[in-house]
Amino acid sequence: MFDEESGSMKDVSSLMKERLKADQIALLDLIAETAAHQQVSVYVVGGFVRDLLFNIQNLDIDLVVEGDGINFSEILAEKFNGRTKNYEKFGTSTLTLKGQSHIDVATARTEYYSHPAALPKVEPSSIKSDLARRDFTINSMAIKLNGQGVFPLVDFFDGEMDLKDGSIRILHDRSFIEDPCRIFRAIRFEQRFEFCIEDQTRGFMKSAIESDLINQLSGKRLLNEVKLLLKEPDPVRCVDRMKEFSLLQFFASDISNDDSRWLVMKKIDSVLIWSKMISMPKKPETWLVYFLGLFVAVKDAVFEQAVERLSFPVKISNRMRSDREHFIKARRGLNEGREPGPSEIYDIFSELSAEAVILLLAACSSERVNKYAALYFNEYYTSAKTKLTGDDLIGMGVEPGPIFNDVFKALRDARVNGQVASRDEEVLFVESQFLK
Ligand code: ATP
Ligand code: MG
Repeated sequence: MFDEESGSMKDVSSLMKERLKADQIALLDLIAETAAHQQVSVYVVGGFVRDLLFNIQNLDIDLVVEGDGINFSEILAEKFNGRTKNYEKFGTSTLTLKGQSHIDVATARTEYYSHPAALPKVEPSSIKSDLARRDFTINSMAIKLNGQGVFPLVDFFDGEMDLKDGSIRILHDRSFIEDPCRIFRAIRFEQRFEFCIEDQTRGFMKSAIESDLINQLSGKRLLNEVKLLLKEPDPVRCVDRMKEFSLLQFFASDISNDDSRWLVMKKIDSVLIWSKMISMPKKPETWLVYFLGLFVAVKDAVFEQAVERLSFPVKISNRMRSDREHFIKARRGLNEGREPGPSEIYDIFSELSAEAVILLLAACSSERVNKYAALYFNEYYTSAKTKLTGDDLIGMGVEPGPIFNDVFKALRDARVNGQVASRDEEVLFVESQFLK
């Protein structure tokens, strides 16, 4: 049970009323009532509490139950007509309520690490032990939902104080050794909130990095951390910070301090904003643009090493390979100083993913190339769609085979260049060019 002696018991109900939306408060009230009725202690924990105190909106509710988390999630689901997805092995459950985002429900647990960077073994415990296994003091606070109209803040590790001071502080000396992911998380929160990594914490972080502990992380976990850093509001600064802590070498040993790369990286943000004005059929994934940007102008071997270390899914790595190849061609083609025709513009942009287009615009940084992108997405992308199908071509007497590609390419070019506009004109075009 909650040890009242060692934690703060400050009531934060008026802060919640002031800062949360009415429906969020109503939901927390209902959860609290259910907890009281079931006679279990339930807490909202982690990021939600931190962001409430810091006055930032956060819609992710993480609950910890002193008792059976899955059972409590099922009770909430039944009461509120929701759905659950349970993970018995971890004693956790994801609850989806109508019209709400997900709520994660966990059983309060302690973690044991059999060896550094291993996945922990877990065991049910009190809220205090559950909070003690967390990464930083600012993320180790909870609010008790006990159904009496008060919401006590549970803060065993001076999280509130560190939040006020702007400090990222680990809870115990072995924290980074137990889970080196926290190294990346420290940078993430430091950059997001413009906080400082507290001196001792930074010392432990550096020695964990120097001991090559990152090498013990699986590709999947490492990629996840890199991805989360690149999703932050200022990804370039996050990359800079990774560089300062010598972290890039763990997945990209040969990334140099090439100034031109940083110039391109710094332009991505404004290109992303600009690109909202053109109707791209697929929205670029920001983190992927930055990831590609990091590897602009590095040798394929270095890029391949990173792809392997980070265990990228094959689909994404193939897409990135193709992007790298077409990016170089596109940049060369657009730098020739000659005005490309509509079908040439079409050929350049149609080969690139949404992410590579953004990177290309950042790298070229020219009004002229922006204009081509706008033409491609606002006009050529749609006008290139041919009305004739493969069956139509067969019906017209074109022999099925590789020639189909030539016919469609010629048709697309003709459409984009304004030579044909209707189905009838396409038929005439094919007859005159391919069936004489
Ligand atoms: P965000 O706003 O980025 O989601 P968050 O604090 O909610 O921040 P999550 O990754 O969603 O972070 O994790 C939720 C909580 O779980 C954290 O607040 C922290 O208490 C705990 N946590 C997550 N990852 C770790 C970790 N690697 N080590 C220890 N505690 C962790
Ligand atoms: Mg979260």
